[in-house]
Amino acid sequence: MSATIIDGKLVSAQIKNKCSEKVKLLNEQGINPGLAVIIVGDDPASRVYVNNKKKDCAQCGIESFEYALSADTTQQELLALIEELNNRDDVNGILCQLPLPKQLDENAVIQAISPQKDVDTFHPQNVGRLVTGQPVFLPCTPAGVMELLKAYNIEVSGKNCVVIGRSNIVGKPMAMLLLQHNGTVTICHSKTKNLKEICLGADIIVSAAGRINMVTADMVKPGAAVIDVGINRREDGKLCGDVDFENVKEVAGYITPVPGGCGLMTRAMLIANTVAATEMQK
Ligand code: NDP
Repeated sequence: MSATIIDGKLVSAQIKNKCSEKVKLLNEQGINPGLAVIIVGDDPASRVYVNNKKKDCAQCGIESFEYALSADTTQQELLALIEELNNRDDVNGILCQLPLPKQLDENAVIQAISPQKDVDTFHPQNVGRLVTGQPVFLPCTPAGVMELLKAYNIEVSGKNCVVIGRSNIVGKPMAMLLLQHNGTVTICHSKTKNLKEICLGADIIVSAAGRINMVTADMVKPGAAVIDVGINRREDGKLCGDVDFENVKEVAGYITPVPGGCGLMTRAMLIANTVAATEMQK
């Protein structure tokens, strides 16, 4: 039997609707949430992401402030802008679109953003809070995956969960959230041996490797949930995920499409974090 296709469009729209309601309540108290988005240079993919974020903000009644800086921006200039945004009352969330041009130190930039406005949850203080189970904004992409699992009543507790990828942005926080929900988590990466065997033992596979056909049907236990975070461009220019969707959907119990799955959820969770940051700061 073919898998249930997890509808990221539907779930993300529900989350954004809830955010819009919360924004209306804040507006009634005279508070207008604001998100500052910094983009350095002219990377076309980053431009698409930033435009989408601005669109989502507008849709949910959040003001967005875009700072498009030239590719030769210095570290000092960027840090000065972040400092200014940290101190502005009309800016509740700040994100700096990564990757940054080579002359800029990403870690220093991440650490310069006030943890209270760090809606991407990249600041080490917030990562520490996440790891130690203290209240914190949840990292957008992993939090979006958890929302999808919840929306489709996919139980995590006691289940074997395999995360493919160990980046600070996706893999590690993803594993942490699954662990917090009592999953038994295995993190795989490029040096992992027997990936196929490890995946075959999984009830839930989250793939965030950025590799076409990373997960094929022979790696999936019948009925497993397969969540595809990957975004790759095929030779024909079309977007696809890490999972061999057409074949895996014949084995899996649940599967996310690309596009139409995790990417939309990441965007919705950024909006949710911006609203949460505003509520916290008021
Ligand atoms: P990174 O390149 O930082 O990390 C990729 C990870 O995959 C690494 O840990 C790497 O292992 C692992 N990996 C690579 N090849 C293999 C392999 N053959 N077998 C097992 N593991 C492998 O990428 P990100 O984490 O930033 O992003 C991952 C993917 O998710 C990308 O396609 C990205 O575009 C997408 N993405 C999607 C988002 C969304 O909203 N849907 C948001 C963010 C990212 P190692 O550490 O050993 O190198």
